[in-house]
Amino acid sequence: MAQTQQDVLNASKEQCIFCKIISGDISAAKIYEDDKVFAFLDINPVNAGHTLVVPKDHYIVLPQLPDDLAMHLIKVVKYLSGAIFEMTGAHGINIYQNNGAAAGQEVPHVHFHIIPRRQDDNAMSPWNRSKIDPEQLKQIAEEMGKNLKPISSSTVKLSSNTSVSKKTSKPKRKGKPVKVKRRNSTNSP
Ligand code: AMP
Ligand code: ZN
Repeated sequence: MAQTQQDVLNASKEQCIFCKIISGDISAAKIYEDDKVFAFLDINPVNAGHTLVVPKDHYIVLPQLPDDLAMHLIKVVKYLSGAIFEMTGAHGINIYQNNGAAAGQEVPHVHFHIIPRRQDDNAMSPWNRSKIDPEQLKQIAEEMGKNLKPISSSTVKLSSNTSVSKKTSKPKRKGKPVKVKRRNSTNSP
């Protein structure tokens, strides 16, 4: 019988370390909790105050979240990022959110990283960026834009084509994949 998205979610929930933290089976340095969201300090922080914000319900990648939960989660991320700015005296904050092993996701339970930064702390490597021909950029935008339509907060619906395998979280694409040829790579952010 074909595995449904719910089967995949149930299987990954059983092993999920963040679900065990939320249920209290594993201890964590909690800083915030409400009825839908839990936030605790990362066990291997980039800097002091590095926080993980997670929904209490188990979802693997961001596109799977029901809209109301996604909206509440980002509201909490916004609130905590402001509070963390003040509490840590950070000069800046990175918000990171990895989806899928290919993107560096290690724990398959949706989470936002809130990372306080100091000027020149060199705490994270810069992204490997490329240069691109403006014409190619336009073509890519046209191709991507064909698959997108405006949404409003009252019409947002959870996409039914989100698919997540156990090993990697690879969403199914509609239409042709959009390719970006890398050239003249630089290390500047
Ligand atoms: P990601 O690579 O985006 O999946 O990040 C997962 C994060 O979870 C890493 O930064 C880990 O350090 C953190 N982490 C894993 N286990 C725990 C734990 N038991 N308590 C707190 N943070 C954890
Ligand atoms: Zn979980």
